[in-house]
Amino acid sequence: MSEVVLTGVVKRYGSVTALAGVDLTVPAGLLTAVLGPSGCGKTTLLRCLAGFERLDAGEIRIDGAPVAGNGRHLPTHRRRIAVVPQEGALFPHLNVAANVGYGLDRAARRGDRVEEVLTLVGLAGYGGRMPHQLSGGQQQRVAVARALAPRPSVVLLDEPFSALDAGLRAGLRHDVREALRADGATGVLVTHDQGEALSVADRVVVLRAGRVVQCAAPTTVYRGPADEWVAVFVGDAELLPAVAERGAARTALGTVPIAGAAPDGPVTVLVRPEQVRLSPGPGAVTATVLRHDFHGHDALVGLRLADGTRITARILDDATAVPVGAAVSVSVDGAGRAFPAAGAATPTERAGQSVAA
Ligand code: ADP
Ligand code: MG
Repeated sequence: MSEVVLTGVVKRYGSVTALAGVDLTVPAGLLTAVLGPSGCGKTTLLRCLAGFERLDAGEIRIDGAPVAGNGRHLPTHRRRIAVVPQEGALFPHLNVAANVGYGLDRAARRGDRVEEVLTLVGLAGYGGRMPHQLSGGQQQRVAVARALAPRPSVVLLDEPFSALDAGLRAGLRHDVREALRADGATGVLVTHDQGEALSVADRVVVLRAGRVVQCAAPTTVYRGPADEWVAVFVGDAELLPAVAERGAARTALGTVPIAGAAPDGPVTVLVRPEQVRLSPGPGAVTATVLRHDFHGHDALVGLRLADGTRITARILDDATAVPVGAAVSVSVDGAGRAFPAAGAATPTERAGQSVAA
């Protein structure tokens, strides 16, 4: 169990700056998710931690001891770090036990550790199987067991579930988190999947263009995103132009209390679709139902307000109570989050496209 601290970490590939000064503390014994869109530097960050890349600037310390930076570059095998790659990369000609025991010395291989880590990942008794006799999910479990076997201080996982079916992924990531926790390992999980990051991690680090834009608990990232870009990246978001006055914002959906501090004046208010409440018939704010998207566990209801504003409500109830074409009254449950309106990112900038001024 180790704390990892990165200070001002810069990594360039030729003219591409993959990491543009990363400051980050990975707390000991917890699972930290590094979340960001493709190309933002997630894999580069893991490769720097693992010692596969040399830093161009900055420093990495593990439990206070410098491992990289200022001319120092401790090789991978001396960092007590294990890596679980995207696709397990098991040795196909070795059985499960031999794969798991690969990084152990001979005495440890004969001891209980192999079976112990197989039990942690839910594969007790599978030691004699060959990799081709396992499902994709089971192979990833073996890869995690192999990483844990030598008791590394830190386990790095680079999108380890992305090749698996959605149904399998949810169970596997939960089990992997429990295995890391039971073994006391510090975990860093790289993912571009916000649902994955929010559901399994103790802390979420949001990376954009080689920089950390937020590092916080999953609920904080979702409810109190650092900026509009994070708000949109981590979940469905309504961003409403508004005017703030004494802790409340006047929006097209009525007056919404603002969570946290906000100066008076023009703002953009974040409201999540599950905060939008609907009831049949017109009210103080009336909208027309445009469409229903049924998702089983909930439904998204597309709405148009009288001024033309389009918003989405997420409802758990039977959507037939608000049929398409009906007038419904709309209100907001709970508080919104306010961002300064001036200089705010436009939707096209948020999508990472260039904008013609
Ligand atoms: P992510 O894992 O978040 O998708 P990466 O860390 O793989 O992102 O890449 C970050 C940036 O660095 C991207 O612009 C990518 O094209 C670039 N990059 C990554 N590896 C190399 C490399 N070996 N040579 C040149 N550019 C690279
Ligand atoms: Mg990657």
